[in-house]
Amino acid sequence: MKEIKILYLYPDILELYGDYGNIQVLKYRIESRGYSVIIDTYSIGDDSPDFNSYDIIFAGGGADNEQNILASDLIKYKDNIKNAVENGVFFLLICGAYQLFGKYYKDVDGNIIPGLEIFDYYTEANPDRKNRCIGNIVIEVNLNNFKTNVIGFENHGGQTYNISSPFGKVLFGNGNKFKDSEEGYFENNVIATYLHGPLLSKNPELVDYIIKYCLDRKYNEDISLVSLNDEFENMCRKQLLNRFLNNIT
Ligand code: GLN
Repeated sequence: MKEIKILYLYPDILELYGDYGNIQVLKYRIESRGYSVIIDTYSIGDDSPDFNSYDIIFAGGGADNEQNILASDLIKYKDNIKNAVENGVFFLLICGAYQLFGKYYKDVDGNIIPGLEIFDYYTEANPDRKNRCIGNIVIEVNLNNFKTNVIGFENHGGQTYNISSPFGKVLFGNGNKFKDSEEGYFENNVIATYLHGPLLSKNPELVDYIIKYCLDRKYNEDISLVSLNDEFENMCRKQLLNRFLNNIT
């Protein structure tokens, strides 16, 4: 039976806004197709993981304090992680994790948290801790020439600069910075985004993009995923997109 292996980084530290839900949605949509899924976790003090042995590496959001706590541990794996990115392992990075894969994150108190420097972007928190990018957000995303709207929720003080390849175009909400036209960072095997939600629960087509990418890469095939009954997800999406884009409640 085909399988997908997931490594969930710092589940006990980077866990804001139910980002764990992304793992649950991936598991559900992988198993609903008859594939198996293995989910391992890694946090401070655990044995060093072999990043290249996984298909997906996931890390969620965290407050500045949590990012400070884990940064010195994460940076130990800078070369291993860079190698896994270059080898095509899929990385799904939410908010705080997104920030830590760049050059640095300057937190709200002005402390510089060194990033993994895998990507050239960098993030600096707005020094006014009461003024954050908070709220619902919709972005237009292009997944292998399939355009779709991705819905989420953002809550970040961090303002991210020097993005060479954004994840999406902002249709509603802030994005990488206050009132930005771009959100997140995207490569073939990397989605780094500010969208909580959890992200994947509201965007089934995004989940299937990730699943297909992983299966095609692992088994060297062009796999067609069996369609699932997304009636409920699509009802929810229609309602939310009307509310955010057409101001229809
Ligand atoms: N602490 C970071 C910020 O405030 C990330 C927040 C998050 O992960 N939601 O920008």
